[in-house]
Amino acid sequence: MKLHEYQARDLLAQNGVAVTGGRVASTPAEAKAIAAELGGKVVVKAQIHAGGRGKGRLVAQSETAHMFHKLTTDPANNSGQVKGDRVGGVRLADTPEEAEQAAAAILGRHLVSIQTGPEGKLVKNVLVAEQTDIAKEYYLAAIIDGMQGSPLIMASAEGGQEIEVVAHTNPDAIVRVPVNPSAGFEPYVGRLLAAQLGFTGEQADQFAKIALGLYNTLVATDASLVEINPLALTTDGRVVAVDAKLTIDDNALFRHKDLEALRDKDEEDPLEIKAQELGVANFIKLDGNIGCVVNGAGLAMATMDTIKLAGGEPANFLDIGTVNDPQRVVSALQVILEDPSVKAILVNIFGGMARVDIIAQGVIDAHRQLKIDVPVVMRLIGTNLAEGEKLVEESGLPLIRASGLFEAAKKAVEAAGSAA
Ligand code: GDP
Ligand code: MN
Repeated sequence: MKLHEYQARDLLAQNGVAVTGGRVASTPAEAKAIAAELGGKVVVKAQIHAGGRGKGRLVAQSETAHMFHKLTTDPANNSGQVKGDRVGGVRLADTPEEAEQAAAAILGRHLVSIQTGPEGKLVKNVLVAEQTDIAKEYYLAAIIDGMQGSPLIMASAEGGQEIEVVAHTNPDAIVRVPVNPSAGFEPYVGRLLAAQLGFTGEQADQFAKIALGLYNTLVATDASLVEINPLALTTDGRVVAVDAKLTIDDNALFRHKDLEALRDKDEEDPLEIKAQELGVANFIKLDGNIGCVVNGAGLAMATMDTIKLAGGEPANFLDIGTVNDPQRVVSALQVILEDPSVKAILVNIFGGMARVDIIAQGVIDAHRQLKIDVPVVMRLIGTNLAEGEKLVEESGLPLIRASGLFEAAKKAVEAAGSAA
């Protein structure tokens, strides 16, 4: 689950990270009032679940795809500007009136950045925060490093809007320090990072405190990523977080009921929300036209690869898990069929603990209940295969059978092609 910047910075602040003062607003008048409280000089920032806002552009909904194309194909269009006439998602304002105008220009429009995709994102809220006089921008993040199986702190003295470029062209400019989760964040880690970024004295202490707070935020919220970019050194010598990004591991949400309220469903894919509501946990929407029902994440990956190998594109990733409940299969198919781009469905089941006959029954039930009108290819193997095949046989439904995975993928691609 992704959070908005205004939510992430609150969590960082609770864990001891220095952030600027600020609050969220949903109208220009509110933005003006907050700016007045903060002394007038503020930054007004679109709150969407995507980065690259500073270099993004605000447009009407009808213009988003065109703008996305412009930003991604011509780098000249994708140059940062937080002041001036080019209206992006981050605006500096020097008076409450300017803050009001900035909010009016941002709210209710679609922000397109290289991270939003061609649909852009509707801006419903802005963060109004104290303006920072930035002397230098740094990058600081904590992630769970799946390869190492431990948290990892990443930092760079070349932070700011070009960090992706730095990661690409000069990866050595990003320092990486793993944290042993049993030992926790030991003080030397903060000092080491501070030294590597070139901080000394008072600033090194401030930086180390922020790095510790960042790590504590990662652990406390079961985040997979917490990022501060930029972390700013101000002209008067303070180190402060100017941006914040936080993603919570969905698998840990059950133990963070308090964070559930921070969810913004408007930012999430409606199909994925529907899948969660129906108890189909591992569903990710993709851009292709072949819906996939598979048991096991590894098999789901292999199925997607095989579809591609056969010349097709999967419409989703879906792992129904080890379930012996036909209704779960019905739910999975229900979610897949909501996607209008689905032209064929591939059911690929390797029955281990899950029984092939129960899953076959689910497909048959779904076919009858949901009146499936796209071709369904079935590849079944494993526990109770004979019983499953018998059910399919006797159902009299037009289910396309395949015995091998590649054969199944080819049949699905063919079926999707002729249905399209
Ligand atoms: P992002 O583009 O979505 O990552 O949004 P950021 O919050 O990182 O803002 C983009 C850029 O705007 C930053 O890298 C800064 O250069 C600039 N910026 C943001 N807030 C301030 C501020 O308070 N003062 C100044 N001078 N620049 C800011
Ligand atoms: Mn940023």
